[in-house]
Amino acid sequence: MAKVGEIFEGAAAIAKGMGITFKEMLQPTITEEYPDGPARLEERYRGAHVLQRDENGLEKCVACFLCAAACPADCIYIEAAENTEQERFSGGERYAKVYNIDYNRCIFCGYCVEACPTDAITHGHGFELASYNTSTLIYRKEQMLVPLPEGGKAPSQRTPIPAGAGEAVSVSTRT
Ligand code: SF4
Ligand code: SF4
Repeated sequence: MAKVGEIFEGAAAIAKGMGITFKEMLQPTITEEYPDGPARLEERYRGAHVLQRDENGLEKCVACFLCAAACPADCIYIEAAENTEQERFSGGERYAKVYNIDYNRCIFCGYCVEACPTDAITHGHGFELASYNTSTLIYRKEQMLVPLPEGGKAPSQRTPIPAGAGEAVSVSTRT
């Protein structure tokens, strides 16, 4: 009796599978034109990382190292530095002076994104990372940081020291 049940279960599974097959056969054919056309990626696709800015244009990364600690591939390298009154790069006490991700090692697991307390690091949709030169796969902060809007200027960079507090410092921007 058990064997009869197994036969029915098998037949039901085959019928279900064939039903999906026939349903797909009736759908219009979609041809991906990549690389001649843009690739279609799902919203949550985990591509190359993006380092975000806040609404004031400051870097969201505060160099807390939590992403580096969470990374199972040990591919994030950070050097932290202090913001000063004259030079401010992030909204916190510290900012990432150096922030590298080694894409020779990254497995795109997303743990760094999950670990970040300020949503500073996210996955973008960049996926064309292949290279014959592995040294080019070490991405630096400057490559990953969201660019400022056209004509925009980060508020951080160098503000003049108040009169009488020392030598005047010329206003400049960081690129
Ligand atoms: S995606 Fe995973 S492997 Fe890649 S940098 Fe983030 S934590 Fe590390
Ligand atoms: S990206 Fe996020 S988790 Fe990583 S150092 Fe910056 S603030 Fe911390």
